[in-house]
Amino acid sequence: MTSWDNHLDLLIRARTPLLWIRSSEEERVEVLLEQAAKRLQPRRLASWDFIGGLKGVLNEEGLGARQPMAVLQWLQQLDASSPTLLLVKDFYHFCEDAGIARMLRNLSVHLRHQPHTVVLCSGPWTPPSDLDDSLTILDLPLPQEPELRTLLENIAQASGSPLSADVLEELTHACSGLSEMRVRQVAARALAQRGKLGWADLAEVLEEKRQTVARSEVLEYCVTEASLADIGGLDSLKGWLEQRHQAFSDEARHFGLPLPRGVLLIGPQGTGKSLTAKAIAHNWSMPLLRLDVGRLFAGLVGASEARTRETIQRAEAMSPCVLWIDEIDKGFGGDARSDGGTSQRVLANVLTWMAEKTSAVFVVATANGVERLPGELLRKGRFDEIFLLDLPFSEERRNILELHIQRRRPNLNLPLGAVIDRSEGFSGAELEQTVIEAMHLAFAERRELGESDLILAASQLVPLSRTAREQLNALKEWAASGRARAASSVASNLAG
Ligand code: ATP
Repeated sequence: MTSWDNHLDLLIRARTPLLWIRSSEEERVEVLLEQAAKRLQPRRLASWDFIGGLKGVLNEEGLGARQPMAVLQWLQQLDASSPTLLLVKDFYHFCEDAGIARMLRNLSVHLRHQPHTVVLCSGPWTPPSDLDDSLTILDLPLPQEPELRTLLENIAQASGSPLSADVLEELTHACSGLSEMRVRQVAARALAQRGKLGWADLAEVLEEKRQTVARSEVLEYCVTEASLADIGGLDSLKGWLEQRHQAFSDEARHFGLPLPRGVLLIGPQGTGKSLTAKAIAHNWSMPLLRLDVGRLFAGLVGASEARTRETIQRAEAMSPCVLWIDEIDKGFGGDARSDGGTSQRVLANVLTWMAEKTSAVFVVATANGVERLPGELLRKGRFDEIFLLDLPFSEERRNILELHIQRRRPNLNLPLGAVIDRSEGFSGAELEQTVIEAMHLAFAERRELGESDLILAASQLVPLSRTAREQLNALKEWAASGRARAASSVASNLAG
């Protein structure tokens, strides 16, 4: 029996009149309710759906078919000698009806003195506001590893080819975050194709997860080739990431280390924040999911919170993975007065999840500044570390220029001293731009790229830092007060 079962039992015994189990897994909810009814005998489980009417009650089968009101009236008149859990399927559709909503509110008072509970089950849904206070919400998390292990074991047993311990372990791990229905679907396909479950199904499970993400409006599955070796400079950040990578291993778990939570990267445009997010996923061989904060808030008021919960569930479904929250300052920097507090509530959901999560979802959040970031996000313990990505110092500029020249003109060795001097205040992106511009100059005359092209290109570019200097200084001051670490050791030395 899990702690969730315990919680459910408690709510039923406490005579909760209207319970909304927030889950899209109706079949699983029905099984869990059946088990609860057995534990809490003499309670019984009855279920109702629009087509079939009432089920599970002797002599009353079929009652209330196509009549949602009738089934509620039936429960209202039921006496205390037959304590009943009534699962009303798809009922969120009927709650918009004024009569049904009124009846549910009446029941929520009446059932406080009766041992009956009405259970609604649905995924994301915004109940009508007059029902808000009457509904008790219970979130059903996706199946946990012990449940998945039992499920896979049972499927394999039934197929006649039990799984060996190591395959069972791998598959359980890979399926984590999929709903029970999806696991059953993958298993059914595997059995149809190969007659048994095995290693070959891992790829299918991952594909299933990829498709789960593809159905999300808010998450994007990014394919990336960038690696940490493509990042010039930022040595402290890269060293730290190397350490955290090791902390995902079983060995680290045995050593007693917690799973890494995530990192917040702050810095001006073009300093390699997005590049770092992509490189982490690539180097750690984890899928990269980009969360579009803007889309989280689009649409109806109230929908954002439901969407956030769903997004988090989907990300967990992909774990181990990297969840990249791009431009977090733009999304959560909203003014509480202008959006009715939605951004604050969504942020609170995300922060609670980050504090409590036990899954291997590594969050990489990126932001241009701190002035719009809520204080709660910057507090110690939310992220494992906050890094400030400054504009590159001269050695870093050399490194970045070399990387971009090497990528496009391999084997070309150019003296870079003069360009490095003339590119002070350039970001990584601007250095890349300089290289590309210089190559245009050379190509226009059909000759090899030369030092003079780079110098000319650098002199023509007006770096953003020239206009955004004040903002950058404020950011550095903020970081120097100990709230963030410098991403380059050169910067730490200078600061020290
Ligand atoms: P923004 O705040 O505008 O999103 P960003 O910090 O995320 O900017 P990136 O998108 O990572 O910047 O940088 C754009 C491009 O600039 C990268 O794809 C890369 O080619 C180049 N670049 C930036 N920084 C570096 C670096 N440190 N080393 C190598 N290339 C870099």
